[in-house]
Amino acid sequence: MSQVILGKTGISANKNGFGALPIQRIGREAARELLRKAYDSGINFFDTARFYTDSEEKIGYALGDVREKIYIASKTMTVNVKDFWEQLNTSLSFLKTDYLDIYQFHNPAFCPKSGDGTGLYEAMLEAKDKGMIRHIGITNHRIKIAADAAESGLYETIQYPFSYLATDEETELVIKCRKYGIGFIAMKALSGGLISNSAAAYAYLAQYDNVLPIWGIQREKELEEFAGYIDNPPVLNRELSAAIEQDKKELGAEFCRGCGYCLPCPANIDIPTSARMSLMIKRAPASIYLNKEWQGKMKRIDDCINCGHCKSHCPYGLDTPELLRKNWRDYKTFI
Ligand code: SF4
Ligand code: SF4
Repeated sequence: MSQVILGKTGISANKNGFGALPIQRIGREAARELLRKAYDSGINFFDTARFYTDSEEKIGYALGDVREKIYIASKTMTVNVKDFWEQLNTSLSFLKTDYLDIYQFHNPAFCPKSGDGTGLYEAMLEAKDKGMIRHIGITNHRIKIAADAAESGLYETIQYPFSYLATDEETELVIKCRKYGIGFIAMKALSGGLISNSAAAYAYLAQYDNVLPIWGIQREKELEEFAGYIDNPPVLNRELSAAIEQDKKELGAEFCRGCGYCLPCPANIDIPTSARMSLMIKRAPASIYLNKEWQGKMKRIDDCINCGHCKSHCPYGLDTPELLRKNWRDYKTFI
C-alpha cells in the first residue's frame, strides 16, 4: 500500500511523508535540491512548522512552483489569537501559497476547543472559512491530549509519535482515529533514532491504512532509502516481524522516547539523549556519543539535585533520575 487517505480530509498522499524539521540544519540550496528530489521521487506530503526556523521558507523556495501538486501541513505553537493570525500569515508568505492543506496546533498543553475561552479553535474555524487552511489538525506527544482530540470530533488529523515500539494505548488511538475518520500522521516512526531498521518501521506502519508516516529527512541517503519504498514497499514478512520482536525484547517498556517533556532540568542535564545513551551507543554509531562534548554532558548527571521535575513530567512513567544514573554508569564503561 503506497497511498494513504487521511480520513475524512480525503487527502491521498504517498505513504512516505517528508518531515521538514531536519532541513533547518542544511543550507538553502542543499535543502532545495533535497526537497526537489523528494518531489521528483513521488513524495507529495510535506510537514513543517512555524517553529522550525527557516523550514517553511525553504519549502516555499523549492516547491513554490508546484504548490498545487503537493500537500503542505504546518503548525502553530501560539497560545493567543493575535499570534495565531500573525503566524498563519507568516507561514503562508514563506511557503509562497495562499492556503495550507492542514494547519495544526503544535503540541499544545491542552486540546483547544470551541468555547474554552482561548479563542484558538474559533480562529482555526475562521481561517478555514476564509480558505486560508483546508483542514484542522493537532499534534501532541501526550496520549491523553491526543485521545481527547480524537474524542472531541473537532480535529481532522492527529499527529502523534507512532512506531512498532508503541504501547497498546497508542495503538488504540490509531484504531480509534480510523473509526472516527481522522487522518493519523505518525511522527517519530524511527523512535527518535532508536529504530535503525527502516524497512521494518515502514512495513509495520503499512498495516494501518489511515497512518501517514513522516520521515525526518536531512540527507540524500535517507531520502533514497525512503523513496525506494515507493516502488518497493517493504512487507511485514517473517524476517521483518522477527526483527521487530527482537527490538521490542531488547528495549522492553522502560526506555526513554526522547520526547523532552521532562525538561527543563535545573542541573542542565540533556535528559532526552542522556536517559537513553546506552541504547544510542549500542544502536547508532557509538563514536558520535563518545566525544569530549558528550562526555561533558553525561558528567552533568552527577549534578542532579533530585528535584523530581523530570519524573513527574515523564508521560511514560519513567523513574528518570534513576534511568539517568544507570545510563551514566553504563556510559563510563564505554569511555
Ligand atoms: S531530578 Fe535531576 S535530572 Fe530530573 S529534573 Fe531534577 S535535577 Fe534534572
Ligand atoms: S525521560 Fe520521559 S519525558 Fe524525558 S525524554 Fe525520556 S520519555 Fe520523554
